[in-house]
Amino acid sequence: MNRNILKDPYGRHIDYLRLSVTDRCDLRCSYCMPKGFKDYREPWEWLRFDEVARVVAAFVDLGVSRVRLTGGEPLVRRHLPDLAGRLSAIRGLDDLSLSSNCTRMAAMADDLKQAGVQRLNVSLDTLDPDVFAEITGGRLHKVLDGIEAARQAGLDPIRINTVVTKGVNDQAIDRLLDYCAARGFALRLIETMPMGETGRDALDRFVDLQAVKRQLEQHYELVPDVLPGGGPARYYRLAGTDTRIGFITPLSQHFCETCNRVRLTVDGTLHMCLGHEHAYPLRERLRQGISDDALRNCLREALALKPERHEFRENPEKVVRFMSMTGG
Ligand code: SAM
Ligand code: SF4
Repeated sequence: MNRNILKDPYGRHIDYLRLSVTDRCDLRCSYCMPKGFKDYREPWEWLRFDEVARVVAAFVDLGVSRVRLTGGEPLVRRHLPDLAGRLSAIRGLDDLSLSSNCTRMAAMADDLKQAGVQRLNVSLDTLDPDVFAEITGGRLHKVLDGIEAARQAGLDPIRINTVVTKGVNDQAIDRLLDYCAARGFALRLIETMPMGETGRDALDRFVDLQAVKRQLEQHYELVPDVLPGGGPARYYRLAGTDTRIGFITPLSQHFCETCNRVRLTVDGTLHMCLGHEHAYPLRERLRQGISDDALRNCLREALALKPERHEFRENPEKVVRFMSMTGG
């Protein structure tokens, strides 16, 4: 049992690492990555799997017990199941989860499950193939097949992440809810964040989820609920069913006071907050042969930089990185 606790300057207990394994993606969601973007990190800049495992082990020594693999699209990083296997073998890491767009999941679900990935969050904003193509540039049927493969492989729970955009999918929430209810998935609605130019442009179609919740309450009774590992979402159960809906509301009701996470990008930079540029580079230190003790000290030093809260509302121009660069 791990007794270490990593605290930030505001007394928040950090026990969760979002680990971006690539900044590349095979989709181009309009609010995330710019169309035609190719300015990726070079392969030599990517942390190797042994380097990633070292950083994760150091975090686990300091009390982090949960890691989520993300990106970009994590399934485009070759040999991802090998990395998952290495990480899940780290004693003290209790929960290894994955965020994916699922375009490539059909071929990988069994390997990922066997490698120790337990839970899955999937980006899915619509069940209409044309609207899906318009938002992402991709093909919906591949994603739906991928989700089904993940379900059959036993990844559980599966949560569907939906960024709600005015005039694009704000009238399609009932259909997504039915889809989730029929499969035992939770639906999580997300407010657009002004991450980079893409995120800021998407603010033109921003939907306040407090209003969406009020609309849903006209049709459903929403009973407050808690889901394990639920992160910043506020969850409700549709009364009389097992279906859960969560609201992630960074703008209309921020949740920074309960923030428990930091992010590591593919090039080995720690980011303390999605909404700030505070960063701490680890790659060169790792490659210069830093000791385990010194590495743990670096993580503590980095944590000291964690800001109290984002300023997405007050200062939407602040973050130049778009979401796929940091790992959402
Ligand atoms: N590619 C994977 C996926 O889409 O699930 C993992 C990475 S993606 C960056 C993680 C999450 O960030 C997705 O649920 C996506 O919808 C969300 N996201 C991306 N850009 C966003 C933005 N500007 N505002 C809010 N959420 C955003
Ligand atoms: Fe790719 Fe995920 Fe960003 Fe969409 S949200 S472009 S799937 S990284």
